[in-house]
Amino acid sequence: MQVLSVASEIFPLVKTGGLADVAGALPIALAGKGVAMRSLLPGYPVVMEAFRKRKAVLQYPSLHGGKAAVHAVRIGDLDLFVLDAPHLFNRPGGGPYGDPAGRDWPDNWRRFAALSQVGGDIAAGAIAGYRPDVVHAHDWQAAMTLAYMRYGKAVATPTVMTVHNLAFQGQFGAGVFGELGLPAEAMTVDGVEYYGGVGFLKAGLQAAWAITTVSPTYAQEIRSPEFGMGLDGLINMRADDLYGIVNGIDTDIWDPAKDRHLAATYDAADLTLRRRNRAAIEERFNLERDESPIICVVSRLTWQKGMDMLAGAVDGIVSAGARLAVLGSGDPGLEGALLAAAARHRGRVGTLIGYDEALSHLMQGGCDAILVPSRFEPCGLTQLYGLRYGCVPVVARTGGLADTIIDANEAALSAGVATGFQFTPNSGDALLHALHRVMRAHGNAEVWSSIQRQGMKADVSWNRSAERYVELYRLLLSRKVA
Ligand code: ADP
Repeated sequence: MQVLSVASEIFPLVKTGGLADVAGALPIALAGKGVAMRSLLPGYPVVMEAFRKRKAVLQYPSLHGGKAAVHAVRIGDLDLFVLDAPHLFNRPGGGPYGDPAGRDWPDNWRRFAALSQVGGDIAAGAIAGYRPDVVHAHDWQAAMTLAYMRYGKAVATPTVMTVHNLAFQGQFGAGVFGELGLPAEAMTVDGVEYYGGVGFLKAGLQAAWAITTVSPTYAQEIRSPEFGMGLDGLINMRADDLYGIVNGIDTDIWDPAKDRHLAATYDAADLTLRRRNRAAIEERFNLERDESPIICVVSRLTWQKGMDMLAGAVDGIVSAGARLAVLGSGDPGLEGALLAAAARHRGRVGTLIGYDEALSHLMQGGCDAILVPSRFEPCGLTQLYGLRYGCVPVVARTGGLADTIIDANEAALSAGVATGFQFTPNSGDALLHALHRVMRAHGNAEVWSSIQRQGMKADVSWNRSAERYVELYRLLLSRKVA
């Protein structure tokens, strides 16, 4: 089975969040299950620099205002179609979406319409010798692929639209429609039109044969106005075609037994080795050395992630006796608040602003718990890394966090199945209440190590989830024949 994946980021080449992890790991997981996935992605400078031999398999004399070509390349374990369109993607700043100052490029609609248009062309057989059986688009940047297919020549090819975060919808003014190259009939409520403008994600949700999101609980949540971000009506209409499939993680990259970012590698047989990593964390974050647990946060610093609540709870966390290590970047106000908290609680709280993949590994390998207080969380990956590394997840009970962590309540503890802590409602008070439970459990070495080991036993690999995607692709293909 040949599946074309379309995404705007893919690990390890370009990553701003969980989408890249999924786009990079799923093809590898599917390869073992009889599915050959090729991924179409933009030729950002970092991507173009990652390969030498350029062999164009598709050329455009003019694609949205400039020459473009698609190169078929293999980088690492990934089979890629790289869309080389310098006028759209060769830009400074390193990030996929914005300028060096962090502002979104004003022509993002054009950049990702172009990506999607090429996705639609490939789906329709534009590359000699390649015709995907299924097309799988991720998030708004790739969503229009399914609209191009629907209004073009690939209407009979099954499609999957995966929503990694419904908050990002790609909504633009009606003025862009004329430049998309779609027929006039597409500009309707059951096409790409959305509140008078053009909705990229909306168009994909409308056109997709199946919609998936990255956890069963989030799939249910987005049917409500509270989580639906204005799209709950459409999502409810498509409820029969809506699936929730939890993300896995790349268990080779995230493996405490061989992680080169750790000061000391370890496995469940000897968790005392984690102490060396903890010492490295104390040094990096300027924390006092003692036996109290270090709670860490590795996150975008945003409202969605509950980082304002965290900032408000810092004093309570410190007075409960824990230390806190925060790595993240995002909202300047939240960055400031968390830096101020570190200044206020020198030695007890450390904040590093920035994006540091290596340090994020060390934190999972050396901190005692990872806190994820998200207001909504489609899946969440850091709690899965936490499980694998014996860094006990403490999470808000929402979305994928609800689906992947077993709360250490009395029943779970007595059955020996607890893997972390959940709290609800999502408030500073509930967070601190959970933290007190964490402190109690941490004070009992036997209980704590049972929670750690239970988490490390959880299957967080892509194995089961990849099977679910294969089942879905098969189901859609069977509908095609029928
Ligand atoms: P989202 O995609 O909503 O940001 P996820 O939990 O799904 O959240 O994925 C976030 C990914 O980004 C994880 O792999 C996490 O480790 C990583 N990450 C987030 N912030 C940082 C940071 N400041 N430094 C290193 N890695 C980070």
